[in-house]
Amino acid sequence: MPNNPLILRGKEVSEAIKADLVQRIAVLAKRGIKPGLTAVLVGDDPASQVYVRSKERQSGKLGFNSEVLRLAVDTTESELLSLINNLNKHELVHGILVQLPLPEQIDAQRVIEAIDPAKDVDGFHPVSVGKLVLGLAGFVSCTPAGILEIMRYYNIDPEGKHVVVVGRSNIVGKPMANLLIQKRALGNATVTLVHTRTPDMGLYTRQADILIAAAGVPEFIGADMVKEEAVVIDVGINRVDDPGTEKGYRLVGDVDYKAVLDKVSAITPVPGGVGIMTIAMLLSNTVKSAENSLK
Ligand code: NAD
Repeated sequence: MPNNPLILRGKEVSEAIKADLVQRIAVLAKRGIKPGLTAVLVGDDPASQVYVRSKERQSGKLGFNSEVLRLAVDTTESELLSLINNLNKHELVHGILVQLPLPEQIDAQRVIEAIDPAKDVDGFHPVSVGKLVLGLAGFVSCTPAGILEIMRYYNIDPEGKHVVVVGRSNIVGKPMANLLIQKRALGNATVTLVHTRTPDMGLYTRQADILIAAAGVPEFIGADMVKEEAVVIDVGINRVDDPGTEKGYRLVGDVDYKAVLDKVSAITPVPGGVGIMTIAMLLSNTVKSAENSLK
């Protein structure tokens, strides 16, 4: 029988988040503060340029002091570290974002660790990650934070549910699993994390009340891997060739959307689901940092 699943639209959620930010930014303005976000882009990776431009445009729209520092592809690690050191000290800069990936002569982990945790709006610094795991206040990695906001907006309560997270990356899978086990609202879930070394992944995904797919493999989760009435959150953003389109490709998630649609109770589309939430949470973290600077 055809199902009528709830489509979880990131745009709607991100608009609600931005409306709240507008009010908080107005309060900051009364105190003479504009949230300041500096993005650092090294080299000319086309996807990174698109992401950074989008972050610049959206933070500009909200009236941030936003700036993009574009550095040559042969920038050395010590040049980048010294730039970050200056940004750490700059009082108009509340958030520092170094767009990944970095060219191979630069150790990305060393760069992440050079950012002042108070300005770590991406939530990648070990101090931020440690706080997340311990359930302490700090900057939460933007994509998993955005997924929790989608759940909040659509009243999807993970408490007592079996959530299966596919993928163990530092920016999505690991923080996602750790957030969902916290003893608080939007937590209290039973979490299974599966990855490339999990034999028979479907054994686990078929038990998921909530399935979060973040593997980066186009449409590999089909109807046979999803439980009836599950909530499916698709983090994957994958380009697949499509000569029929103007660009020659289209974006798909990790989940075979059409195949699972009749089976699930709710699902995020790709594009239009999780993707748009990441920037919203980056903006939110930057406003939080600006607010913290007043304390
Ligand atoms: P990653 O490559 O760093 O990590 C992928 C993880 O998935 C790895 O831990 C790997 O073990 C696991 N994995 C890979 N293939 C698998 C398989 N066949 N079975 C089980 N596990 C498998 O990727 P990432 O940065 O976490 O991103 C994952 C996906 O999410 C990508 O498509 C990426 O584009 C997308 N993404 C979207 C956003 C956003 O929505 N804004 C943000 C970050 C990443």
